[in-house]
Amino acid sequence: MNLPKVDSQIAGLIGKEKERQETTLEMIPSENHSSLAVREALGSILTDKYAEGYPGKRYYAGLEYYDQIENICKERARMLFGVEHVNVQPYSGSPANQAVYFALLKPGDTTMGMSLPHGGHLTHGWKVNFSAKYYKSVQYGVKEDNHLIDYEEMAGLVREHQPKLIWVGATAYPRIFDWERFTKIADSIGAYLAADIAHIAGLVAGEVHPSPVPFVHIITTTTHKTLRGPRGGMIMITKKGIEKDVELPQKIDRAIFPGLQGGPHENSIAAIAICLKEASTLDFKHYARQVVVNARVLAEELLRYGFRLISGGTDNHLILIDLRNKGVSGAEAQDRLERAGITVNKNSIPFDPAPPFKPSGIRLGTPAITSRGMKEEEMKQIASWINDVIADENNCEKVREEVKEMCKKFPLPN
Ligand SMILES: *Cc1c(COP(=O)(O)O)cnc(C)c1O
Repeated sequence: MNLPKVDSQIAGLIGKEKERQETTLEMIPSENHSSLAVREALGSILTDKYAEGYPGKRYYAGLEYYDQIENICKERARMLFGVEHVNVQPYSGSPANQAVYFALLKPGDTTMGMSLPHGGHLTHGWKVNFSAKYYKSVQYGVKEDNHLIDYEEMAGLVREHQPKLIWVGATAYPRIFDWERFTKIADSIGAYLAADIAHIAGLVAGEVHPSPVPFVHIITTTTHKTLRGPRGGMIMITKKGIEKDVELPQKIDRAIFPGLQGGPHENSIAAIAICLKEASTLDFKHYARQVVVNARVLAEELLRYGFRLISGGTDNHLILIDLRNKGVSGAEAQDRLERAGITVNKNSIPFDPAPPFKPSGIRLGTPAITSRGMKEEEMKQIASWINDVIADENNCEKVREEVKEMCKKFPLPN
């Protein structure tokens, strides 16, 4: 390693972070442990060049191999998800979504998405985000009694406001999306329907969550969550999308470049190509299945300890706990669990009476710990630790030691 000689300060901090990751349980559901191959591409000389434009139509010379890499990446995404067109240049999930707005709407046009406190993402029209400041944003949510998406309320809002673009996707929704119902609602007024599968891309690729491909026009995703690649984003156009608007691929490509971005990060694109190859294997299907099995077992155990779960459980990789019956705030729970070596995040729950910075819930998930090889037995152990720590903060130190011991048996990938 050359880095310690060049910059011992940063090298030291990376070393400490590696040790932190090795000795703790990463249970933030939007995170994962990427493979060494992915990180090798990310840290390669591909970071050195500009490649503005698209394969075959670049603005700089010397891009023969970059063109091949980007074409391989696009082809793998097309094959894996079964879509017609892919743009792999978005710097991350938020810029991918931004490009969809920029391609399809004029400022002031109406857009619709799930509200942030009900599980949606900032870029789906939340009030502080560009998506609500430059467009007229209408928000739908979940039902108060069962925490499932309120499709009837949504259909009413669609009729009333006639949005041009409708988003489906979430950061904190523990259930399956009923793509068919969304399609019927969007088609009834001729709106564009976009699925943002940032959280569940790996579950869709692994065939443990229904694919939105037959039902939506556009799909955006991150590549670093359940898909387990480098930080990045993609925009995909389906057959249905092309049938609605043949120019959709060109509109999206032009929105990314030159509309919003300059040079693509080809080192990330190479790493995305690798993660897509990994995600096409039988091993990855087993991984995706285990992510969901682990989340279900963890949810069942937490229920046994008297935890209240939003929607009563989970169908996917994540769990949202309503902590109000435990007398501990989301922030306090996050802090105690961090001290115990279990990393989760505080999160608003639907209809949360508490303010967003001091919410009543925590969000946790199984993608990263499943990448380490943990299975049902470990989930039972983790649920018991979570219960110990929420019941009494004096248990943090004891649990911390036990977490360290278990982590030794499950080294980080590579
Ligand atoms: C994570 C996420 C994003 C944003 O991705 P960034 O890479 O953080 O910009 C967008 N939409 C959804 C649903 C997400 O979960």
